[in-house]
Amino acid sequence: MLSYRHSFHAGNHADVVKHTVQSLIIEALKEKEKPFLYLDTHAGAGRYFLGSEHAEKTGEYLEGIARIWQRDDMPAELEAYMSAVNAYNKGGYLKYYPGSPLIARHLLREQDQLHMTELHPTDYPLLRHEFLKDDRSKVLRADGYQQLKSQLPPLHRRGFILIDPPYELKTDYQAVVQGIQEGYKRFATGVYALWYPVVLRQQIKRMVKELEETGIRRILQIELAVQPDSDRRGMTASGMIVINPPWKLEQQMNAVLPWLHRVLVPEGIGHTKVSWITPE
Ligand code: SAM
Repeated sequence: MLSYRHSFHAGNHADVVKHTVQSLIIEALKEKEKPFLYLDTHAGAGRYFLGSEHAEKTGEYLEGIARIWQRDDMPAELEAYMSAVNAYNKGGYLKYYPGSPLIARHLLREQDQLHMTELHPTDYPLLRHEFLKDDRSKVLRADGYQQLKSQLPPLHRRGFILIDPPYELKTDYQAVVQGIQEGYKRFATGVYALWYPVVLRQQIKRMVKELEETGIRRILQIELAVQPDSDRRGMTASGMIVINPPWKLEQQMNAVLPWLHRVLVPEGIGHTKVSWITPE
C-alpha cells in the first residue's frame, strides 16, 4: 500500500521539528573534516510546491513553516534549517518546501555522500530528477528498511541515518525497531534519527518499549505536541528518536523547542519534551 503522499503535509509542524533536528545533526557531523554518509530511507519527492492542489487542500504548512520562516526573533538553532528553506525560496515568497533530501543536499559538503530510497511511483522519479546532476548522491527505488542492511556500515564509518516512514501500515511501528536493530548491528556508532507521529499514544509507548528492549543505549526523545493526546483520529504530536545524538543536540533542542512551540501553537496547548529513553 503506497497511498501516502508527503505533498499533503510538507512544511507542517511535524516537518519543522523533524528538519530542525536533521539540520542540527548534519551541522554537528560537519565539525569533523572526515566525510560521512547521509542515508534517507524514506526520502519522499524532495521538493514540494506549496501552491499545489495537495498543499492547498490541507493548508498544513500555514500552521508550520509559514509561521516561523520570516520571524526576526529566530533562535540560532534554526539557522542551518532556515538557510535551506531560504535557498529554495528566493525573493521573500514561500513557494517551495524542501524535504529532507533537499535540506541534506544544501547542507552537506563536497566530500559527503547522500543515499536516498523512495518507493512511490510518482515521487521516486521526482526525487531522482532533483539529483541528476549531483555526483555525491545515489537515488534508488527500493525498500528503505533494506538499506539498513545493505548500506551499512558506510565506507568512512561515519553516518547519519534518517528513518521517516509514513506509518500507513501498523506494522511500520515494529518494522522501524527491527530496521534500527539491523542497522545498529552493522554500524553501532552511527547517528540514527527516527521520526514518529503521535496518533494513538499507546502505539508510541509500545514502540519505545521495544526500542528499550533492544539494549541500545544513548537514545534521546524529542517531541512537540500541538494538542493533548487523544483517542480520536489525527496526529496530535510528533517527534524524533535519536540514537547516538551529537553531544550538543539535547541542549540545542531544550533551547529551541519552547520557542517553536510558542510560535507554532499560539493557543498554548500541547507540550514539548526532550528526554532520554536510555542514557549512556
Ligand atoms: N523524509 C521526507 C521528508 O522529510 O521530506 C518525507 C518522507 S514521507 C514521510 C515517507 C515516504 O516514504 C513516502 O514518500 C512514501 O512513499 C515512502 N515509502 C513508504 N514505504 C517505503 C519503503 N518501504 N521504502 C522506501 N520508501 C517508502
